[in-house]
Amino acid sequence: MTRIAYVDATLPARKRIALVAHDHCKEHLLAWADRQRERLARHELIATGTTGMLLDRRLGLAVESLISGPLGGDQQIGARIAERRIDLLVFFWDPFESQPHDPDIKALLRVAAVWNIPVASNESSADYLLSSPLLDQAHACRVPDYDSYLAGRR
Ligand code: PGA
Repeated sequence: MTRIAYVDATLPARKRIALVAHDHCKEHLLAWADRQRERLARHELIATGTTGMLLDRRLGLAVESLISGPLGGDQQIGARIAERRIDLLVFFWDPFESQPHDPDIKALLRVAAVWNIPVASNESSADYLLSSPLLDQAHACRVPDYDSYLAGRR
């Protein structure tokens, strides 16, 4: 069993927030983002392709759109989490329908857990995250200690 050591890290006051919604959840995400627009606009937003396009077109939010989820966008977000380039994940995944890219979704949720990223999977949890006093301030969090992990592999 792999034991992971952790080190302290500092998250920036301006968070890098990833947004993803499955097709049946997109309207929920758009309505939620509209309601939270003021808070979201203070941070850097990154999204999978279609989600990002809709956030930009319909709400006018500035979003960096990656590749569409089924074509690899979830994996791109996962890679950025592992590179510590994303601080928070809002992922409205569809609990009623399996997706062609289910393995990618599982991988994304796993890597978010590994890197201690806050994850919201629905409107209520997303409201809790965005109303946290930590959202707008730099703060400490624990991340895997990659150097000691590598040293232990020798
Ligand atoms: P999309 O991808 O924003 O491109 O629709 C989301 C997903 O299905 O993971």
